[in-house]
Amino acid sequence: MPTIPFNDLSRRAAALREPLLAAFARVVDRGWFILGPELDAFEKEFRDWCGASHAIGVANGTDAIELALRAHGVGPGDEVIAAANAGMYAATAIRAIGAIPVYADVDDRHLCLVPESVERVISPRCRAIVATHLYGRMADVRRLRILADQHTLPLIEDCAQSHGATFEGVRCGAWGDAACFSFYPTKNLGALGDGGMVTCKSPEIAERVRRLRQYGWERKYVSAIGPARNSRLDDLQAAVLRVQLPLLDAANSRRRAIAATYAATSHSHLRHPDVGGDDYVAHLYVVRTPARESLRRHLTAHGIATDIHYPLLDLDQPSLHGKCRSPEPLTVSVAATAEILSLPCYPELTDAEVARVCAALADWTP
Ligand SMILES: *Cc1c(COP(=O)(O)O)cnc(C)c1O
Repeated sequence: MPTIPFNDLSRRAAALREPLLAAFARVVDRGWFILGPELDAFEKEFRDWCGASHAIGVANGTDAIELALRAHGVGPGDEVIAAANAGMYAATAIRAIGAIPVYADVDDRHLCLVPESVERVISPRCRAIVATHLYGRMADVRRLRILADQHTLPLIEDCAQSHGATFEGVRCGAWGDAACFSFYPTKNLGALGDGGMVTCKSPEIAERVRRLRQYGWERKYVSAIGPARNSRLDDLQAAVLRVQLPLLDAANSRRRAIAATYAATSHSHLRHPDVGGDDYVAHLYVVRTPARESLRRHLTAHGIATDIHYPLLDLDQPSLHGKCRSPEPLTVSVAATAEILSLPCYPELTDAEVARVCAALADWTP
């Protein structure tokens, strides 16, 4: 039996071959490759689709977080609160600024930041909160929003796994003071290479991000603010993303349907994720079991690829040693890290493949 890959980007590209090549041809023929009309159009389309006020294309999702923080004045020695189980992306951005990641714990149900834990770790040096919508499930933005406002801290959403998710009818990207998206190819909205976006509410922050993504320029060759970056979203990638944005809601529905099928496979030895609600777009389907290695071996033997998101908490990363703070025990984050296993979950999986995964799960005993 052929292996079911954890992801297969060639399937998505093959299905969209014609419109993608047409988008390429349009950009090649125009000869305008950086900050051109495709980016301009995509920024407007993405902004309107999210319900945000502004959208600024950048080179990748990590840069999006860095520039959003810089635009809010976060600098060296400042503290930024984040979750420790979210793959080190926010920490990479925070460290690039010379700021200090401070970790709060996550809730057992969704593995996203707990507002009470965030509140307990806020110190006078705190300058921002980064909330990651992990695995495609939105964090409790309602309560995080209230908390951030009470402490006059900017709330930055990390939406790199949650394009299209809504909370109380409002999409991610429209809740935070700023929000950061990645268009890395495996994301729910993926380019044919790297890409990212910052959305935000305030025109001043939007203008700062626009300057920071290009040497701090207020106009050509005049650098008004810094330290800045060169971090732009190529017109070619913007054109590719314009092909896919109109298809995203349908792709997310397919992801949710796959997740619902997995979740219906009852099993006493593993915990399925909560799959209900429009606040989950099934970027990853992550089960939990203390017998993770046994399940992983079993699925491998059945030709089903799996992965772990993520095997190390940020504070256990060698590069962060002594460079972050964890003021309280991260009980849930630590426990989950030992138990999580991601199953294949992408729109191009066939029904037969989904059925094979369900059968293999049902057939497992630790
Ligand atoms: C992928 C990802 C990022 C970073 O995006 P890049 O485009 O790879 O820099 C940030 N945060 C989360 C949660 C991600 O999954």
